[in-house]
Amino acid sequence: MAWDFSTEPEFQRQLDWVEEFCRTEVEPLDLVFPGAAYSRNPKAKALADPLKQQVKDRGLWALFLDSELGGPGFGQLKLALLNEILGRYRSAPVVFGTAAPDTGNMEMLAAYGTDEQKRRWLFPLLNQEIFSAYSMTEPQGGSDPSLFKTNATRDGDEWVINGEKWFTSAGAHADIIFVMCVNGMFVVPRDSPGIEIAEQPALHNHIRYNNVRVPADHLLGPEDGAKVLAQRRLGGGRIHHAMRTVAQVKLAFDIMCERALSRQSHGKIIAEHQMVQEAIADSYAEINMLRLLVLWTAWTIDNSSTKQARTQIAACKYTCAKVLREVSYRALHIMGSLGTTDLTPLQAMWAAAPTMAIADGVDEVHKVTVARNVLRGYDAHPGLWPTEYLPAKREEARKKYAELIAADPDLAAWADAAASGRLSRR
Ligand SMILES: Cc1cc2nc3c(=O)[nH]c(=O)nc-3n(C[C@H](O)[C@H](O)[C@H](O)COP(=O)(O)OP(=O)(O)OC[C@H]3O[C@@H](n4cnc5c(N)ncnc54)[C@H](O)[C@@H]3O)c2cc1C
Repeated sequence: MAWDFSTEPEFQRQLDWVEEFCRTEVEPLDLVFPGAAYSRNPKAKALADPLKQQVKDRGLWALFLDSELGGPGFGQLKLALLNEILGRYRSAPVVFGTAAPDTGNMEMLAAYGTDEQKRRWLFPLLNQEIFSAYSMTEPQGGSDPSLFKTNATRDGDEWVINGEKWFTSAGAHADIIFVMCVNGMFVVPRDSPGIEIAEQPALHNHIRYNNVRVPADHLLGPEDGAKVLAQRRLGGGRIHHAMRTVAQVKLAFDIMCERALSRQSHGKIIAEHQMVQEAIADSYAEINMLRLLVLWTAWTIDNSSTKQARTQIAACKYTCAKVLREVSYRALHIMGSLGTTDLTPLQAMWAAAPTMAIADGVDEVHKVTVARNVLRGYDAHPGLWPTEYLPAKREEARKKYAELIAADPDLAAWADAAASGRLSRR
């Protein structure tokens, strides 16, 4: 039986390299040229591309894609360990070819695309020659896909898409957009006539699709298959977010612990005040609970499938939002006034907590998923009393000793007294 929390020495060496590389190469790039890793500006690319090349040379590029989908096949568990480092640095996911929203879109393409679709979009996305966005949520409601209206109508060799999407992250800058219609998932070039992008919100775009025409072969997967593709996409995306959240809360924890040892108040360092110790102790336990939940979920995906791990992925989704909220708040609080500024990463991390509870599906919906799936493993108790009602259980258990009890009145009396709590345990 395998029940082992260690990392293979060979992969640990890779992780050590990643840690060092992120600290000495990615973080300085982030600090001096924020956004360079995402930029199409030739000067910014000239700074970021050599870093991406180093990652490729090391065999660590696009680790999210499993071998059956054409990726390096490291699996989700190793990806989780890698993301525990990458999630600490803003542009590390893009430097390692594992940044959202492209990763989820690539997973869909790899799983459902034809050879021609993969040639046209998957490989350029993998190489970051193009970037993508994902248009699912609509202005009238995001949590309930049955409210979505965007649809595609077949017209000869083309599909004609009409509808309105809200909060398409990076939609204005994408080369292609994966558009979820009620009757299928479509790949739509962003410069297609009929696409209208509102000025606000700036980062997560509000897009109208007005009679947007795409060739028939831009339908991804089967007609009417959009919900299945979306599940596939979002399942992977959620667990990757959770992995990166582990990195964020570890960063908050490091900041909190360092400060607790550095600051004096009322005659001692604040680490010696019990309420500060409570914040550290609670954070330590919560971070490790989240980490183990994420690693167990990643392991489950590797040993079964994303679909099989659905309940665990949903639990990771709302747990990471909660742990991020709690730990970043405590860390910010222990930093005092400095914590409320943007001079450390904590204010942004704390502000990201509500977003984490909404993006990729609101917490409530994931909690419902978990509760429903878990309850499928239970039945109602048949009579009035719950299964663990002790008097009924004891009555049933006495049947096992019926002959013994009948033959020995002293033993029967002792059993009655012991069960009623009248005897001491000795
Ligand atoms: C940073 C960010 C990036 C995003 N990127 C994308 C993207 O790239 N593409 C895309 O398509 N979408 C994207 N989204 C949208 C995201 O998927 C939706 O915001 C999310 O699904 C919730 O939909 P909504 O915002 O319409 O909230 P609503 O559905 O209006 O929900 C609002 C609130 O109502 C309550 N509620 C709703 N349903 C239930 C329920 N069943 N049970 C109990 N309470 C409920 C909850 O309190 C919930 O928070 C992004 C969102 C964020 C925040």
